[in-house]
Formats: sequence, C-alpha cells, structure tokens
Amino acid sequence: MARIVMKFGGTSVAGTERIRRVANIVRAQAAGGNQVAVVVSAMAGETDRLVNFCREANAIYDPAEYDVVVSSGEQVTAGLLALTLQSMGCKARSWLGWQLPLKTFSAHANARVGEIHAERLLESMDDGEIAIIPGFQGISDSDRITTMGRGGSDTSAVAVAAAIGADRCDIYTDVDGVYTTDPRIVARARKIKHIAFEEMLELASVGAKVLQTRSVSLAMKHNVPVQVLSSFIDDESPPADSLPGTMIVSEAEMAKLLEEGQVERQSVTGIAHDKNEARVVLTRVPDKPGAVADIFTPLGEAGINVDMIIQNVGRDKGETDVTFTVPQAELARAQALLEDRKGSLGFNRVITDSKVAKISVVGMGMKSHTGVAATMFKALADRGINVQAISTSEIKVSVLIDEDETELAVRVLHTAYGLDAPDEIGAAAE
Ligand code: ADP
Ligand code: ASP
Ligand code: MG
Repeated sequence: MARIVMKFGGTSVAGTERIRRVANIVRAQAAGGNQVAVVVSAMAGETDRLVNFCREANAIYDPAEYDVVVSSGEQVTAGLLALTLQSMGCKARSWLGWQLPLKTFSAHANARVGEIHAERLLESMDDGEIAIIPGFQGISDSDRITTMGRGGSDTSAVAVAAAIGADRCDIYTDVDGVYTTDPRIVARARKIKHIAFEEMLELASVGAKVLQTRSVSLAMKHNVPVQVLSSFIDDESPPADSLPGTMIVSEAEMAKLLEEGQVERQSVTGIAHDKNEARVVLTRVPDKPGAVADIFTPLGEAGINVDMIIQNVGRDKGETDVTFTVPQAELARAQALLEDRKGSLGFNRVITDSKVAKISVVGMGMKSHTGVAATMFKALADRGINVQAISTSEIKVSVLIDEDETELAVRVLHTAYGLDAPDEIGAAAE
C-alpha cells in the first residue's frame, strides 16, 4: 500500500465529463489498495474569470477579498469530484483549506505555505476515505482565506504530500510530462524522462508553467518524489501512473542515472519563455557611486521584483543609462515610484516597454560545457533577433527580446542545442 497525492489541473477538471474521467483515475489508484489524497484546480478559465470580476468590481482591489473570490473555483471542483466519486460507490469527502487547516503566511494573493495540520486528514484516509483538497487556497494567521499565486495548486499538492509523508506526488496535467520546451510551441520538443530538481526549479522560475516554481522548491526541500503525467487517457488505458511521464529527481539520483547511462547530459536540458516581463530604461542617470543603490532600494522595499539589469557604459558628462526588467503586473507601480523620485535620482526619462519576452536556456550541463551563451547569441543573430538584455546564472542564460519573436526564438534555440526530436517521435508527429 502506498500513500499517494494526485493533483489535477484546470483542463483536467474542465466540466463534469472530465471530472468523471479524473474520478476514474482516482478510483483505480484507490482500488489498488492505496491511500489517496487528491488536489484539484479550478476548471480551466475559471480563475481568470474570477480575477476579471474582481477587476470589474474595484480596479484597486483588496487582496484579502480577491482571495475570497478567486479561491471559490477550486471549492467547486473539489465538491464535484467528491460527489462524482460517491456516485461511483467510493468513500470520498472534500477538505477546504480552513478545514485541514493549511496555514499560510505573508501576502494575500501570493501566500506561502506554512504548517499543515494533517491529523484529521490522515485519520479519514486511514478509514479508507479519499480526501479531496481544493488547491491554491489556505488560511492566514488571522483566519482569512488566502491563495497562493497563479498555478498554486501544484504547491498545495506538494505541501500536502510532504505533510502526510506521501510516497509520491503525481501531478496530472494536459501534457504527458515535462518537455525540452513548451510542446505547444515546438512540435518536436522531447519528453524528458528524468529531470533534476535544480533544473526544474530554474525552468519553472523562468516561465515553464508546467509546475509552479514554489512547488518544485518545496519538493526539493522535503524530498517529495514528484511525477508529471497526463490525465488525458482513455478509461481503457493502463493505470495512469504506469504510463511514462517525467520524474523530478534529486541530484544524487541524477548522478546515478548518468553513471548507469540511463540519461545523457547535454549542455542545455530545456528552454522556457516568459512574456510577463516589462523593460524599464532610465536615461541619463548620474554615473556615480550609490546611484544604482538609490534606484533599486526603493523598488525592493516596495516588493517589486527586479530581474535583468544592465548599466550601460557611461556617456559624456558622467551620465549613464540603466535598463532592467520587472514583472508586467508591477510595471505601473515601478514607473510611478521612479517618477516620484525623479528629482532625487537625477535621471532624465523613464522609458518602458511591455512588448518584450525573456527566453532562457537551462541545463546542469552548462557547468561543464563552454560556449553555451555564444551558441545562443549566434543562433538568434542568424535569424536577425536582437538581444536587449542578458542575464546568467550557473545553469541558465536568459535574453530579453521583442515579444513578437518569442516563438521563432524558442524554435531556433531548440534546434541550435540539438534538442529536436527525430520526426517519428516528435510530439506533433504522434
Ligand atoms: P494545469 O492546468 O494542469 O496546472 P498548466 O497549464 O499550468 O496546467 O501547465 C501545463 C502547460 O504547461 C502545458 O499545457 C504546456 O503548454 C505548458 N508548458 C510550458 N513549458 C512546458 C514544458 N517544458 N513541458 C511541458 N509543458 C510545458
Ligand atoms: N486555479 C489557479 C490558477 O489558475 C491555481 C491553479 O490552477 O494551480 O492559477
Ligand atoms: Mg498549472
């Protein structure tokens, strides 16, 4: 007997017919003698719809009330899945965030998981009941409902898995694993059978939305075995968890697989893109010690996350341009904050551009391969794609480009790093 957490994303629960299919997958796991807890997302499109309602009600909405509204989508699917399982003769019940309770801390709308008191949940699972938990939601110190940022149900699933000491956390979605890049952009993207936590973390943080970044860091911290699988299977298919998906493994397991020749390490494992960044250029900033500190300190204090930064070579008269990126959602706030301080910071203009995209190549193999960045720049240059900013880490190179060139850039890089699947096994060719 194993204790398993199964998470189903929005497309997997989009409507009662899809929920019935999910119920079949869950029932098969429970029938195998396993203890099962299921984490569900809201139906596809539902969270966007609820977010729009909040915007319509009040453009500058209170995040605590936003959480009350947007958390409701998950509550609906949790109840519907419990009802469907009951209709099949299974014992099942829902556990809302406050009932567990799943405690969270810090900001509303972007809360982090704190403690989970899983005693009652475990008692119910010991009694043979299937537990259905709405993802994305928790409860704050002051007993108010919270949500954990977009894509947060992945994090709920991993957190529940860690809290109940699950043997596995299976993330069922609308693709059958983690690919070398978004398979919706590159038809010849390849499924990655095993990926190290560190690589997955980096890929998620630069835009591969298949897993929420925090879910990966939490899994890494608590050593939760995570597997990404497809829920889009026929009722007649073999059990979903026996189909090959992607296993997220520790560095030690990866080293073993490499040694056994089961995986091959390339310089680049995956490519991700992110269209949610915006570029800010401050022109004619005084080129003197402390100038950049004066710019970035207030942004940091306001909780605005700055990513890529470039300080251009100083111009004449001791002036320079400073370029950086912020999340698009923070752009208006960043711009207002800088304009307010124009006098003391001494720059000339703030120029912004939201029509940019960040393209990143990620791979542990970069630690030992040279020329990874050069390959990237050359491949982009060959297609006339201009690089507006660059940032690197030990296992990642990111460039900022024109948003219209996103798909082209991802495809070109996928080919340049030799990641394309041969025709016969290409995802689209199947
Ligand atoms: P869910 O609703 O199940 O949480 P998401 O839409 O959040 O699903 O994540 C799955 C989507 O992530 C896929 O449909 C795919 O388009 C996208 N995606 C982006 N990068 C990757 C990648 N490297 N591998 C697989 N899917 C990816
Ligand atoms: N429903 C939430 C969202 O769309 C959480 C999730 O699906 O993971 O972001
Ligand atoms: Mg998701």
